[in-house]
Amino acid sequence: MMDKAKLLQELLEKEKSGTLKAKDRLAIPAQDIPEQDAEARRRNVSEVALGYTEEQARIEALRCLQCRNTPCVEGCPVRIRIREFIGAVAAGDYRQALAIIKENSLLPAVCGRVCPQEVQCQEKCTVGRSLKDVSQAVSIGRLERFVADWAGSHNGSPQDAHRESGIPAVAPPTGMKVAIIGSGPGGIVAAADTRRAGHEVTVFEAFHKPGGVMVYGIPEFRLPKAIVRQEIETLRKMGVKIVTNFIVGRTRTIEQLMKEDGFEAVYIGVGAGLPSFMNIEGESLVGVYSANEYLTRANLMKAYQFGAGADTPIARSKKVAVVGGGNVAMDSARTAVRLGAEKVYLIYRRTEKEMPARVEEVHHAQQEGVEFHLLQNPKRIIGDANGSVTAIECLRYELGEPDASGRRRPVAIPGSEFQIEVDTVIIAIGNLSNPLIRQTTPGLEFNKWGNIVVDENCRTSMAGVFAGGDIVLGAATVILAMGQGRIAAAAMNEYLARKQGSRSE
Ligand SMILES: Cc1cc2nc3c(=O)[nH]c(=O)nc-3n(C[C@H](O)[C@H](O)[C@H](O)COP(=O)(O)OP(=O)(O)OC[C@H]3O[C@@H](n4cnc5c(N)ncnc54)[C@H](O)[C@@H]3O)c2cc1C
Ligand code: SF4
Repeated sequence: MMDKAKLLQELLEKEKSGTLKAKDRLAIPAQDIPEQDAEARRRNVSEVALGYTEEQARIEALRCLQCRNTPCVEGCPVRIRIREFIGAVAAGDYRQALAIIKENSLLPAVCGRVCPQEVQCQEKCTVGRSLKDVSQAVSIGRLERFVADWAGSHNGSPQDAHRESGIPAVAPPTGMKVAIIGSGPGGIVAAADTRRAGHEVTVFEAFHKPGGVMVYGIPEFRLPKAIVRQEIETLRKMGVKIVTNFIVGRTRTIEQLMKEDGFEAVYIGVGAGLPSFMNIEGESLVGVYSANEYLTRANLMKAYQFGAGADTPIARSKKVAVVGGGNVAMDSARTAVRLGAEKVYLIYRRTEKEMPARVEEVHHAQQEGVEFHLLQNPKRIIGDANGSVTAIECLRYELGEPDASGRRRPVAIPGSEFQIEVDTVIIAIGNLSNPLIRQTTPGLEFNKWGNIVVDENCRTSMAGVFAGGDIVLGAATVILAMGQGRIAAAAMNEYLARKQGSRSE
């Protein structure tokens, strides 16, 4: 295979002379991202995907057809000007590429790593469609990651490397106080955008570390925590106050924050952190975890250190069953592998095609030795006399007619019960919203699933109170939470400007 540097040079020369036609671009090989070897990474928590080299990034960017109608942008929840940023990468102008991405997305190093691009921008990409294979689409996410990482290593901060100080400019003080509840991606964006308008912003976070799911849920091997820490540091440098171990609804209520503590606008971004269970026999046995608890112990409390420096260690498991087929299930299974389990089974009641997890995570889990048990679902969990898990009993399933979600409904096959010997069961079948804010905030409207009801500007039923992310959308994605944080911040800035205006009249 041709040397990458030579290939890039040839392509650039052709482009310069105007002879790089669409058919030539379609013939450029899609660039694979270098990864840690599957066997080696089973024994460490370092990031799996290592990122494009500069040559790879520019070759990949040259695959882009620079379509006039930009279908990729249609697939992007925050409408990044994808064609233009990829054009800048192809030209080697990474600062410009970053500036374009940051017009719409504040956390490119995060989104480049965790966004489900294959069902968003890349799904619509003309290259993938022309080659009749979505995996051959231009790797927009990997290019986004490349740009953010390049900026991080060339100017200290992936956040705002294109600015001299690396810190976004903040308007003169307005004297108005904003409370952001929850420090997930939505809260971070809402805090940054309201602070930029000159308000005094405080983020209240229930956990002892800020970052939301990006810190306690998504593991280090997919999203290095240093990236999230850097984003939080930028907020601090902008003058945002971050208060941890502060549970709104317990430490202070929203009413107290607004009526007694002087906060004039509040953003609620508390996520969907309440795990769902299956309500089957044996779920309270020792060795059964919700994915939330398991991942939080592993990520936030460093359980992978097994006692040495770990705040809340996890018992060592030999055989682990993970129930579910989403990102949370993949993260749990792959974490169990790294925590030393000999066997990790992933039990999912549909087929691989219906799995909601990112395709890349499914492949990585398989490469790392996670055994997929498809068209199966637990019926009960079995324990010994000490109340510890010894096995999981499952039923086999087949697919019936499509259900409300459009996916074919799994139907249990009667009498197909069988048992798998395990000592740990991790339930990763979804999350609901925590009822604390609902119980302590009279006047705030919720829907029947416990999500806060908002209008198109993320305004809630209470004046001055805005909400976004998973607490509004149900368990969704980082980019959607970020998008709502931005919409809410714009509405909060407008609300506060009006309030200030009416005071000075
Ligand atoms: C394991 C896992 C893997 C995931 N993988 C992906 C992925 O690959 N790609 C993707 O796009 N999405 C993924 N998601 C979903 C994504 O992380 C969420 O959609 C996103 O983080 C939601 O953001 P948010 O702003 O609503 O807040 P969250 O990230 O949910 O953070 C909310 C914060 O609020 C805090 N909080 C809660 N209640 C209170 C309170 N009363 N007072 C103060 N603070 C409070 C919580 O401690 C938390 O830190 C994953 C989720 C999980 C759990
Ligand atoms: S659809 Fe694909 S090829 Fe067209 S501009 Fe977007 S990324 Fe480039």
